[in-house]
Amino acid sequence: MSDTHFDVVIVGTGFSGLLCGAYLKEAGTTNIRIFEMTPSVGGVWSNGGVGAYPGAACDVPAYTYLPFLDRTGFIPSKKYVSQTEISNYAEMLTDFIGIRDTIRFSRKVTRLRFIGDSSGDPNQLWEVTTEDATTGKIADVVTCNHVVTANGPLSSPRLPEIPGMDSFKGESFHTARWDKKASLKGKRVGVIGTGASAAQVITAIVDDVESLHVFQRTPTWCLPRDDEPTPPEMIEQFKAGGYSESLRKVDWRDEPAELEAVAFSFDDLHDVDKNKAICDMIEARLRSEVDDPKIADLLTPDYPFFCKRALFIDDYYTTFNKPNVTLVNDNGGVVGINETGLEIARGETFDLDVIIYATGFDSNFIPFTIEGRNGVSLADKFGANEANNYQMIRPHSLWGMHVDDMPNFYMMIGPQSLNPVTNVTLLCEEQSKYIADLVTEMKEKGQHQVEPTREAVESWTALCESSSEGKVWLRCNNWYMKTTKTDAAKGRDRSSGMWMGNYIDYLKHVLGGAGGSREALLKFH
Ligand code: NAP
Repeated sequence: MSDTHFDVVIVGTGFSGLLCGAYLKEAGTTNIRIFEMTPSVGGVWSNGGVGAYPGAACDVPAYTYLPFLDRTGFIPSKKYVSQTEISNYAEMLTDFIGIRDTIRFSRKVTRLRFIGDSSGDPNQLWEVTTEDATTGKIADVVTCNHVVTANGPLSSPRLPEIPGMDSFKGESFHTARWDKKASLKGKRVGVIGTGASAAQVITAIVDDVESLHVFQRTPTWCLPRDDEPTPPEMIEQFKAGGYSESLRKVDWRDEPAELEAVAFSFDDLHDVDKNKAICDMIEARLRSEVDDPKIADLLTPDYPFFCKRALFIDDYYTTFNKPNVTLVNDNGGVVGINETGLEIARGETFDLDVIIYATGFDSNFIPFTIEGRNGVSLADKFGANEANNYQMIRPHSLWGMHVDDMPNFYMMIGPQSLNPVTNVTLLCEEQSKYIADLVTEMKEKGQHQVEPTREAVESWTALCESSSEGKVWLRCNNWYMKTTKTDAAKGRDRSSGMWMGNYIDYLKHVLGGAGGSREALLKFH
């Protein structure tokens, strides 16, 4: 087998890359190369990955989040498993699938270039360049027939765009770049942000530090996890087989009304009265858990539930009862960092030993160059530029997977397919099956290239753009629409980068032909 040409190259070994590799292999495509920029598999969950901070755990129940549980026979230890358990599972899954030998670790893809019009070989459509992640030197230049970007939408940490960050003399780092050598014991620690990463860090480190200042620009709605070890009766169900698949099954033909694992439906979120009822329920709990009513006021959001990503964590609110915790609320946020600490918008300053930036990600950022036919880049096509931090805010695709003028190029869990409330590993699995089916079918039919028609792309794009109408995500600032306060302050345009319809409707299009059959929407050569 050649070491310079592959049927399929996959970028990334998170669950999307691993599942894509699994389904391709199952369908008989074994000439695969997977490039992974870190030394281990698991993507956001990998050891040393962006989700390797204290307290990191998936806040979606493991029974539905972890793929292939029935196949591997692995039974999660509890309802919400830790980053370590997920990362170990990803390692085990890689060996179970049998694709470790196809992976090249510490290889950062730097460029994908369509060469199909000049290579002279109908199977040499893409050139992939990588560099060694440790030396920065070019490591591989390979060709392939199909290329899959499975590098994840939340892999590029976002530092706040505030002055003075380099001047701080203490330790400072982003949650996604956790400094394992840093000791927080007995220190005055400040956490900037109150999103999902912040909440997990705050509750994990609070008892170690001397003092914890939480700098809140916007409060976040929080539901409990009711975490517990996997109950014996569930262990029996797992052992009987087929249990995980039954939990993960989304029957898009029958359209079940409820979102799995949460006590509200997709439609409830967008219904003003039903959403208000959820907020009232959470607020009552918050007020019963937080001792000081003034702190409870500050922790209560003034926007609808799940307009921003909600928190699912048991001890978030009660953490603010601890004597060493100070909630610093300023809706202008942190505006400056100096040698000894930071300053908030209303002018108060705070001296700190450690600053932790829990300030999120540049979602759908393009971390490498992708050039399609005639050298046109994906960044240009998708409206990414310096002014918007190179984020793909105007994507044009079919189902968030196919892009015109980029034959045999497939995006996974990228723009125009991911939804704020979709269990992302379900999407990983469906997209993997789709890609594997397509590659297999093309091989069987002797077809060399597939790309979407321009009409198909325009029609999916129009549907995506209108999919946010009437939805809760238009009713506050959030990263989904790239309307955070930081983006608003910079005058950046709202993004139409996500699929804001529900997951079932997405499947109806991809699997059920709701917007036209594959044959009608795709061109094969
Ligand atoms: P995030 O939700 O984007 O939160 C960033 C936080 O930083 C916000 O609270 C933001 O305030 C704050 N912030 C930014 N600049 C600031 C400033 N200058 N001053 C004060 N505050 C500032 O990021 P995240 O918590 O990392 O979560 C990102 C996504 O990752 C989540 O939505 C979720 O999809 C995923 N995630 C999942 C899990 C899991 O368990 N499954 C865990 C962690 C993360 P504003 O709200 O005012 O903008």
